[in-house]
Amino acid sequence: MKLLIVEDEKDLNYAMTKALRKEGYASDSAYDGEEALKMLKANEYDLVILDLNLPKIDGIDVLKKIRENDLKTRVIIVSARSEIDDRVLGLNLGANDYVIKPFDFKELEARIRTSLRINYTSSPTLLVIGDISLNTNSKEVQVKGKTISLTSKEFGILEYLMVNKDRLISNFELFSHVWEGNTDNYLYTDTLKYHIHTLKRKLSQDTGIDYIINKRNQGYRIRGNDE
Ligand code: CA
Repeated sequence: MKLLIVEDEKDLNYAMTKALRKEGYASDSAYDGEEALKMLKANEYDLVILDLNLPKIDGIDVLKKIRENDLKTRVIIVSARSEIDDRVLGLNLGANDYVIKPFDFKELEARIRTSLRINYTSSPTLLVIGDISLNTNSKEVQVKGKTISLTSKEFGILEYLMVNKDRLISNFELFSHVWEGNTDNYLYTDTLKYHIHTLKRKLSQDTGIDYIINKRNQGYRIRGNDE
């Protein structure tokens, strides 16, 4: 899952980016509204953390721009209590949630998880398909009840495939939701192949089952419940 953190307080932006990367999210930073809109144009983000009081272009205007042509990207506003009217306005304009500054990092992460899960599962933390279960809270992955250890990129790939279980995901889409930075013209294929290869091997080590289906030149899909 790929996040954009829009916050002009450099220390806070840095702390959030660092903490969220540690939690396994591909996280990019923007420090003003103009930069945020540029990055949103160039990349696909699953969720945006948006400060309201920003240089160049205000957070509310960034939100309006996002919602002009995109209803899918989740937006969580972070703002000071004094901006409470703006917060309400933010929700009316299509933000998914808000967090009041100063906030506890654990709370922010819980809100992120909930916002990312809203559309596709009844449980905010546990994804289960066939033999595989993935806990987005503890980051634990099990195959037939046995815990396996994944790198953050392997986890990111598996989570994205499980969340989008009913469709084929192209190399490009997978890469751009799991890797940081501008992935527009990146030479990503070999990197992605390598991580998918190690992920497949770890998943299948006990069962011998290939849990990730690869359709040549089309993309990847997680093996369904009854396949
Ligand atoms: Ca600010």
